[in-house]
Amino acid sequence: MTYLYKAQNWQSQMSDLITSPEELLKELQLSPEDLLSGAILASQQFKLRVPRAFVGKMKLGDALDPLLLQVLPHHLELEEHAGFVTDPLGEEQANQLPGVLHKYKTRFLLTLTGACAIHCRYCFRRHFPYQENLPKNEDWLNIKTYLESQLDINEVILSGGDPLTLSNRKLALWIERLESLKQIKILRIHSRVPIVIPERIDVELISLLKNSRLRIILVIHSNHPAELDNLTCSKLAHLAKHNILVLNQAVLLKGVNDSAQTLVDLSYRLFEAQVLPYYLHVLDKVKGAHHFDLGAEKIDQIYKDVLASLPGYLVPKLVREVAGEKNKTPLFGVTTF
Ligand code: SF4
Repeated sequence: MTYLYKAQNWQSQMSDLITSPEELLKELQLSPEDLLSGAILASQQFKLRVPRAFVGKMKLGDALDPLLLQVLPHHLELEEHAGFVTDPLGEEQANQLPGVLHKYKTRFLLTLTGACAIHCRYCFRRHFPYQENLPKNEDWLNIKTYLESQLDINEVILSGGDPLTLSNRKLALWIERLESLKQIKILRIHSRVPIVIPERIDVELISLLKNSRLRIILVIHSNHPAELDNLTCSKLAHLAKHNILVLNQAVLLKGVNDSAQTLVDLSYRLFEAQVLPYYLHVLDKVKGAHHFDLGAEKIDQIYKDVLASLPGYLVPKLVREVAGEKNKTPLFGVTTF
């Protein structure tokens, strides 16, 4: 049995998110007191935020539901652990201008909003100071000048906060700005919204993406096959019909997707939705997420089994991001990461 919610357009869903641990546990018919008190404490550091459509994919009465574990604050988040820090990827160093992160040689990250539809407890940006860091309209000229001074850059990545929480009008404005720069050929949009509010893939968004002169790639973020219900898959497949390439990145998380079978099922389900698995990230060591960490040996074993069970085109690359590196670091076969 799953939680039933009233289907609405995506804007109404965004303004009707569940933000209180009490309400989330009540809707899922869960009442353990220890869960609630820990959740209330941990949510004071990083708020609970989850769309009802995503809760609708969870099982009622299951405190270990893999989707619930990704969003329910936990008292273990309050523990301190060596090596788990607020800025694990050293992004403050790469922050050139408000909203701009220049970490890679040919790619350039733009964070246009600090808002997400969902708060993932393992998020490496859970401590990121978005509010001091968002580009305003008047910052565009500085961003343009910076881009024009970096001729190696041919791709812009709209990254989290989640760009698909923005209105289509605002997205259109930024896409138009980027299109005006000849050097930019590719626009990549990283978003978890199509997984947590599939109705976000609306007619206007598709029209905006398919009519751009830029080659558009949508990188979604799904960690578990239960996130991919029929509505979500049909919305994703619709993008492919319009020539929009959709890739998936997942994060390996203890208790959520730490079995080869779950990852194999995820890859096949993505393929049904015409999405290709892209990256399988090892957890970034962000403060508050230690309880999702699996350890190198277990990761190696899981990945070996995934490799043995899937055709090569459905195997996501196992990677870690290392602060200051110019690319993601491939990990398979390394047991000391
Ligand atoms: S949607 Fe992405 S940026 Fe937002 S909290 Fe989740 S992982 Fe972090």
